Amino acid sequence: MFPALLPTYNRTDVAFVRGEGSYLFAEDGKRYLDFGAGIAVNAFGHANARLVSALTKQAQTLWHTSNLYRVPGQESLSKKLVANTFADTVFFTNSGTEAIELAIKMARRYHFASDHPERFHIVSFEGAFHGRTYAAINAGGNEKYLEGFGPKMPGFDLVPAGDIAAVKKVVGPQTAAIIIEPLQGESGVKQIAPDFLKALRKLCDDNGILLIFDEIQTGLGRTGKFFAYDWLGITPDIMTVAKALGGGFPVGAVLATADAAKGMTVGTHGTTYGGNPLAMAVGNEAIDMILEPGFLDHVNKIAGYLHQQLGALTAAHPGVFESVRGQGLMIGLKMKTDAAAFIAAARANGLVVLPAGDNVVRLLPPLTLTEEEAREGLDLLNKTASQIEAQKAAAQ
Ligand SMILES: *Cc1c(COP(=O)(O)O)cnc(C)c1O
Repeated sequence: MFPALLPTYNRTDVAFVRGEGSYLFAEDGKRYLDFGAGIAVNAFGHANARLVSALTKQAQTLWHTSNLYRVPGQESLSKKLVANTFADTVFFTNSGTEAIELAIKMARRYHFASDHPERFHIVSFEGAFHGRTYAAINAGGNEKYLEGFGPKMPGFDLVPAGDIAAVKKVVGPQTAAIIIEPLQGESGVKQIAPDFLKALRKLCDDNGILLIFDEIQTGLGRTGKFFAYDWLGITPDIMTVAKALGGGFPVGAVLATADAAKGMTVGTHGTTYGGNPLAMAVGNEAIDMILEPGFLDHVNKIAGYLHQQLGALTAAHPGVFESVRGQGLMIGLKMKTDAAAFIAAARANGLVVLPAGDNVVRLLPPLTLTEEEAREGLDLLNKTASQIEAQKAAAQ
């Protein structure tokens, strides 16, 4: 019989039914330390008291009106984002991929409004992940995600990440925008050289091209700054945000400069749910927490400790780990042994970690992780690595 639930996921046979801070509890009562945070979503851990309070208060008041009317929560949240980023304006979506759709539409529309409708090509990078809607899979360029869904969408040029000569070769009078994750998440926590990102900024400036940063995973404190671009000394023209923005409540956003957004006039885009009062109540509280003095200091302190300890851990298990990479609390352990087997063994030990491309085990703990919890996670990683080594030795 065909499954009642569309089988597009090969799901792990565990159902978490409760969460508390950095911990998850399964149906059978087993407790897990969560180093996945729902793929960088639960940045404040599970059942965060302030988010729960903001959401329940809103739930008792008003759930939904529509974007036909003013939504006060959107007005306040957009002001906070504008005040603390490069952006002049914000549009709220329900998800990351919807933010990507708008970013692409906005870039194309910018050139249309500049009397250059022929400039609609988007340059993107190998290893990118931008979501699963039609424009997003075309921007991502992953053949596995494109196969069987009809013709590719015109106007996407895929080039190797880090290769500025390749970018220059593909850029031309047809180019509208360049889209990039400042640190590639899904393909294996792959670092992009700051100099490359700065070279992209210059190339865009020199050629009237818009630079889009996809900060859906890197944004909102994950790398230790409010946004990853804050490390670089440059700013994008358009930026997509989602994941941590609602701390678990679905919400995304597109941030843009006034110039980049100039084509988005009344009627050019819309959404029924995007930015609804429930999402905005949580988003406003989440942003307040991230921007509170000391929050990002905590992220950097814990991240520094983890990176230092992971360096020692990987050196102690050279047959299991190849290297540690990433920034802040977005960390990849490049494996020598099978990443999937390591993840399963870690879970059996009570630690949730995530897969990523390139045989990488990805660590995305809540940003509120304590040093004690970090130590517990390191102990569980160490235990798991020792077990994998023992298995390897026994098999020889
Ligand atoms: C998760 C992610 C997306 C897609 O977000 P959804 O909410 O799943 O649609 C896009 N880009 C990046 C970098 C992501 O990490």
